[in-house]
Amino acid sequence: ENGDQTKEPACFSSVIPGWFSEMSPMWPGEAHSLKVEKVLFQGKSDYQDVIVFQSATYGKVLVLDGVIQLTERDECAYQEMITHLPLCSIPNPKKVLVIGGGDGGVLREVARHASVEHIDMCEIDKMVVDVSKQFFPNVAIGFEDPRVNLVIGDGVAFLKNAAEGSYDAVIVDSSDPIGPAKELFEKPFFQSVARALRPGGVVCTQAESLWLHMDIIEDIVSNCREIFKGSVNYAWTSVPTYPSGVIGFMLCSTEGPDVDFKNPVNPIDDSSSKSKGPLKFYNAEIHSAAFCLPSFAKKVIESK
Ligand code: SAM
Repeated sequence: ENGDQTKEPACFSSVIPGWFSEMSPMWPGEAHSLKVEKVLFQGKSDYQDVIVFQSATYGKVLVLDGVIQLTERDECAYQEMITHLPLCSIPNPKKVLVIGGGDGGVLREVARHASVEHIDMCEIDKMVVDVSKQFFPNVAIGFEDPRVNLVIGDGVAFLKNAAEGSYDAVIVDSSDPIGPAKELFEKPFFQSVARALRPGGVVCTQAESLWLHMDIIEDIVSNCREIFKGSVNYAWTSVPTYPSGVIGFMLCSTEGPDVDFKNPVNPIDDSSSKSKGPLKFYNAEIHSAAFCLPSFAKKVIESK
């Protein structure tokens, strides 16, 4: 399914010739662009268009349905934060579920935690896994961990069938709510996440940009406040190749032992993860800082 590498993808030439421009109805009127050195892969899976290209300044880039999912240069900011914000907030996480995350980067980060005994991962699109193994070995290294059980399937169905109270943490590393990830942003999905978590268990979901998607964030926050009876917090980080340069996370815990997300209780012993290289972005200070919100967002999020 290696696709046709000779024909230029539509999203490549429309704004600046020889550049990739990221356009979507989710961010109308703007298009972040990267200079393309070489197209390495183009394919169409059952779910989405998949492209990998070599960029001039961010290393290799993975694009799904015209939207950048990761670049070699800044993936650390996203993968480390979406993983360690939840896992460093509870003592001894043992059983973790990852939904989406087909590139393997979140698995790489979960695997840094020595207390973790089992990691289930449910990704809908096998092509993303295969492409990541071929072109992003430093990201896909996560798949090599013996604790990982990879399931190719829909995360919504997987969670509906998950045993009640079975996970310490669920991480939802999804694409945007247009396409296969739509339901991962809806109330019934959050209800099945809450059901699958043990008391005092935690979830961290990709929750879009403060600059672009306050309406989506507002809905997620009000759903989560209804469903999760422990803590409900919004955090964010800087990822230069995501639209508007920032991305947020919704962090919630179920009723049970208190979780104070802003004050991490479970530091990572980074020396235990030599094969993966050192952490590049996450530290305890940036963990706490991630929960500080600009006033315009604080007003909306805290009023929900
Ligand atoms: N880890 C990436 C990064 O560093 O920015 C972010 C995105 S990750 C590639 C998003 C994944 O979610 C995609 O591989 C996509 O196929 C997957 N996905 C979308 N909808 C899904 C669903 N309903 N169930 C499981 N996985 C889904």
